[in-house]
Amino acid sequence: MEQDEVLSVYGALHDTGALKQLEEYRNKADRLQQLVNQSVELFTKRTEEDLVSYVVSSLLQAFVPRHVAVFLDPLEYNAPVKTLYYRNLKPEDPPVTLTSIEWLGPVLDASQEAVAFEAVLASAPREAEQLRPLDPELIVPLLGLNGLYGVVVIGTRILDEAYTEEELKYINQFFVFASIGLQNILHYVSAVTDYKTRLYNHSFFNQRLMEEIHKVRRYGARFALLEIDIDHFKRLNDTYGHLAGDEVLYQFSRILESSVRTEDVVSRYGGEEFLALLVECPPRDTQAVAERIRRSAEERVFSFRGEEIRMTVSVGVTYCCCAIMEEPADVIARADFALYEAKERGRNQVQTCRPGLLGIARRRRLTREAAAGCQGA
Ligand code: GH3
Ligand code: MG
Ligand code: MG
Repeated sequence: MEQDEVLSVYGALHDTGALKQLEEYRNKADRLQQLVNQSVELFTKRTEEDLVSYVVSSLLQAFVPRHVAVFLDPLEYNAPVKTLYYRNLKPEDPPVTLTSIEWLGPVLDASQEAVAFEAVLASAPREAEQLRPLDPELIVPLLGLNGLYGVVVIGTRILDEAYTEEELKYINQFFVFASIGLQNILHYVSAVTDYKTRLYNHSFFNQRLMEEIHKVRRYGARFALLEIDIDHFKRLNDTYGHLAGDEVLYQFSRILESSVRTEDVVSRYGGEEFLALLVECPPRDTQAVAERIRRSAEERVFSFRGEEIRMTVSVGVTYCCCAIMEEPADVIARADFALYEAKERGRNQVQTCRPGLLGIARRRRLTREAAAGCQGA
C-alpha cells in the first residue's frame, strides 16, 4: 500500500473511533492478564499475613487508599477477630479492633461485592461507627463456602478522588480471587492443625519428620526430638473436670510454641502427649529447651474458671544425626523410651535416650506385655 493510502485508511479508522476502541480493548486485555497473574499468585499464599500483604501490594498498583484494614473471622470459639492494618500501605498497629464481624453479614451477603460505607452505616449504624477512624469508603466481603470469612475496609484515596467504575470493577473481581485464596489457606491450616490445641497435627508432623530424616541421610543434617507427656493428667481431669483439662492442654501448647524457634515443629501426638522437632539443634541447646519446657510447666499456674491448677511434665529426648536408615517410627520410639524412663524415675524430669536404653526398654515392654498376656489368658 502506498503511504497516502495508509494515511487515508488510518484517518478513516481514527474518525470512526475504531482505533480508540482498539486501544480500549488492548488495555482491557492487559488488565485481565494482570488479574490472572495476581490470582495465580494469590493461590500460592500459605498464611493469612502473606495473602493480605500481597493484596495490599496489588492494590497499590491500581490506587493508594489511606487505610486498608482486613478483619478475619477467627473461626474459633471465643477468639478475637484477627486484624491486619495498613496505613498509607505500610503495616501498623490497627486503630480499630472488632469483637465480631457478624453484624456486617446481612448487608455484605446481600450484595456479594463491595458496598459503600454509607450503606453499612444505614444497615448497622452503631457497629459501623467503630470503623470511622479508618476513614472508610468501601467495605469488601471475603466470602467462602461458609459465608463471610472476613471483610476488607478500604479507606478514601490519598488524592481524595472517588473510586471510578473501572476501579470498582477491578476491586470486585480481585477480591473474588482473594476470597478463594483465603479459603485455600483456611483449608490448608485446618488440614495440618489439631483443633483442640492449635498445634500441628500428627500427620503433618510425620511428614516434616520424614523430610528431616531425608536431610540427615542426604546432607548430614541433624535434629533432636522431644516427646513431652503431662504427668498424672488423668488425676487433673478427675479433680478439675475435662474442660479444665482441655484448657490446660491449650495453655501448655502456647508454652511449647514459645519455647522453640520458628523453624522447629511442635505437634500434638495424641491425648496429653506432644512431640517437638528441633532442627539443627546441638545436644546442649536441646537439653536447655527440654529443661525450659519442664520448668515452665512446673512454675506456671494454669487458670480455669477461677481455679488455679498446677501440673508437671516429663520429657524424653533423642537425637538423629548419623546416616543410618531410620524410619520416623524408630526415632519416635527412642524418644518414647526416654520418656518412659523419665516416668519410671519419678516424673517431672528430662531423660535422654542413652545407648542401650532402647534394649532395656524393649525388654521391659516385652516383659510387661507378656505379663498382661498371662493375666488376659
Ligand atoms: P502419667 O503421668 O503416667 O502420664 O499419667 P497420666 O494420668 O497422665 O496418663 P494416662 O495415660 O493414665 O492418662 C491420660 C489421660 O489424659 C486420660 C485421658 O482422659 C486424658 N486425656 C486425653 N486426651 C484428652 C483431652 O483431649 N482432654 C482432656 N481433658 N483429657 C484428655
Ligand atoms: Mg500423662
Ligand atoms: Mg500419656
